[in-house]
Amino acid sequence: MALIVQKYGGTSVGNPERIKNVARRVAKSHAKGDQMVIVLSAMSGETNRLIALAKEISPNPSPRELDVVISTGEQVTIGLLCMALEEMGVKARSYTGGQVRILTDDSFTKARILDIDGENIRRDLDGGAVVVVAGFQGVDEAGNITTLGRGGSDTTGVALAAAIKADECQIYTDVDGVYTTDPRVVPEARKLDTITFEEMLEMASLGSKVLQIRSVEFAGKYKVKLRVLSSFQEEGEGTLITVEEDKNMEQPIISGIAFNRDEAKITVLGVPDKPGIAYQILGPVADANVDVDMIIQNVGHDGTTDFSFTVNRPDYDKAMKILEGVQSHIGARQIQGDRTMAKVSIVGVGMRSHPGVASRMFRTLAEEGINIQMISTSEIKISVAIDEKYLELAVRVLHRAFGLDQAAA
Ligand code: ADP
Ligand code: ASP
Ligand code: MG
Repeated sequence: MALIVQKYGGTSVGNPERIKNVARRVAKSHAKGDQMVIVLSAMSGETNRLIALAKEISPNPSPRELDVVISTGEQVTIGLLCMALEEMGVKARSYTGGQVRILTDDSFTKARILDIDGENIRRDLDGGAVVVVAGFQGVDEAGNITTLGRGGSDTTGVALAAAIKADECQIYTDVDGVYTTDPRVVPEARKLDTITFEEMLEMASLGSKVLQIRSVEFAGKYKVKLRVLSSFQEEGEGTLITVEEDKNMEQPIISGIAFNRDEAKITVLGVPDKPGIAYQILGPVADANVDVDMIIQNVGHDGTTDFSFTVNRPDYDKAMKILEGVQSHIGARQIQGDRTMAKVSIVGVGMRSHPGVASRMFRTLAEEGINIQMISTSEIKISVAIDEKYLELAVRVLHRAFGLDQAAA
């Protein structure tokens, strides 16, 4: 008998038929004798619909009230799945985040889980029931409803698995595992049998939304056995996220390619080249809670220099306004912006032992005439910022150049 946490994403519970399909799968595992905790997302499109609804009432809703609204999608699916299970004769009980007591901080719309009281879940499991928990939501110390950021049901699943010491956390989605890149963009992408936590963390933080980054952090920290699988296939091992690199296998240099199309670039031209200038430019941006990603300061000439950085596209207008406000104070000649940027990143622990990866990446892009506007690196990733219109081409040619296409396997 095993204790399993399974999380099903929005597409997997997107209509009544699919909810019944999930119920059948759960009932089958339950009948084998496994103890099952199920975490659900809202039906696909529902969270977006709720956000749009809120924005129709208020362009800048109070984050507390926004969470009250956008957390409701998950309450619908957990109730429906329990009904479907009961119809099949399986005892089931649903819990909202607050009912479990998934305690979070009070950062509405991006709350962090602080503690989970697994008591009532354990009691129901021991009583033979399937426990169904709403993903994406919790409560703060004062009892306010909070949500965990987009894709947050993954994190609910892994955090619950850690709290109740589950044998495995299975993330069921609409693809059958983690691929070398998004299979919807590159049909030649290959499913990976395993990927290391380190690599998965980079992939998630650089735009592969197959797992929310916090779920990967949780799994690494609490040693949760984490697997990504398809809810539409009966068989298959999916992808296991592993702590160790498989020493028996020859490591590929690059394990995957991540990308994010929602980037924007801001350039501050002709600022005085003197100490403190980076702080004067980025300080007000950070104070407004805008995340800055890549940064470049050019070599100065005539006592002035140019300074560029990228932000998430939804923050672009806010960041531009702030800089236009301080332009004369910092003595900048001009502020330029480009809201249609994208970031492409190659990720792999094999990079550590293989020189020349960056040059191969740059040559590949150059051969397609794709201009690299910014570069940033870490030990196991290289990211470039490019014009968004070349994004798909860039991902495809890099995928081929690093031998990731299916035919190369
Ligand atoms: P869910 O609703 O089940 O949480 P998501 O849409 O959040 O599903 O995540 C699954 C999607 O992630 C896939 O449909 C795929 O398009 C996308 N994706 C992006 N990068 C990858 C990757 N490297 N491997 C697999 N899927 C990826
Ligand atoms: N429903 C939430 C979202 O769409 C959480 C999730 O699906 O993981 O972001
Ligand atoms: Mg998701």
